[in-house]
Amino acid sequence: MGAEGADIFLVYAKTDEKGKPQTSLSVFVVERDMGVEVKHVYGLLGTRGGGAGRIIFKNAKVPAENLIGAEGAGGLIFNQMMIPERMTSAAGALGGARELLKIAARYSDRRKAFGQKIRSFQGVSFKVADSIMDIDAASALVHASAKSVDAYGSTGMTRRLVSEAKRYATEMAWRVTNSAMQILGGIGYTNIYPVERALRDARLAMIWTGTSEIMNLIIQHEYYKEVLGEKASIMDLEADAPEADKEEEKIYE
Ligand SMILES: Cc1cc2nc3c(=O)[nH]c(=O)nc-3n(C[C@H](O)[C@H](O)[C@H](O)COP(=O)(O)OP(=O)(O)OC[C@H]3O[C@@H](n4cnc5c(N)ncnc54)[C@H](O)[C@@H]3O)c2cc1C
Repeated sequence: MGAEGADIFLVYAKTDEKGKPQTSLSVFVVERDMGVEVKHVYGLLGTRGGGAGRIIFKNAKVPAENLIGAEGAGGLIFNQMMIPERMTSAAGALGGARELLKIAARYSDRRKAFGQKIRSFQGVSFKVADSIMDIDAASALVHASAKSVDAYGSTGMTRRLVSEAKRYATEMAWRVTNSAMQILGGIGYTNIYPVERALRDARLAMIWTGTSEIMNLIIQHEYYKEVLGEKASIMDLEADAPEADKEEEKIYE
């Protein structure tokens, strides 16, 4: 985002060719007049005000004072930055979905078909019910993640929760926006209502700042670490089965 109009770029660059991925990146502030050129501004499905493009660095000389943090700290900085970045995607998706659902609910209370308000058809009002439940579930997850970040900072557990919040809230916004369009019928597909634009915008959130698949990668990784690293708890449900002691029946390979 911002390639078209930004004056300042935050750039991750490999500064240690042979180093480990975690410690070979460094972060720099690069100003446009240091040699940044926009090679192509992309045509986009949505978020068209963002000016996303491909930039190239032409003989760009960046002074050492523009290094952020220590050399090789790029990985650490990235992990830290992805917390507010992904929480913003999650919370933004939540706010957007809430407004879209209001538009759909109000419309369904005014639009009539077969002599009745369309909200009197369960095919319509149950979409509203599903959507508000989805929004509230996402809201709870986003709030729990934010509380966890406030309380514990960047830990494995908060990384998992933030990734869950980002994935759940952005996918929820896609579902809710799609339902809103369905409730509005044909007019929802036009630019008389803002639903078509919201639908195009919502699609990006499942891709940027880490795709849903990358969120899954983090979620499962952190969860496995938690579960496999757990000490035996007081309650061991596995041992509760009547024939749990038949070790010879537990064949894993
Ligand atoms: C409009 C727009 C604005 C953007 N703005 C910015 C910006 O300001 N700053 C910035 O840094 N980036 C920005 N991006 C880039 C964005 O963050 C990336 O496009 C996104 O993270 C996905 O990376 P990729 O495009 O390289 O996809 P790829 O990594 O090539 O992924 C392609 C597909 O493969 C899947 N995949 C990849 N690896 C795995 C894996 N290990 N397991 C399972 N599936 C996998 C992905 O989930 C995806 O479905 C922007 C992108 C867009 C479209």
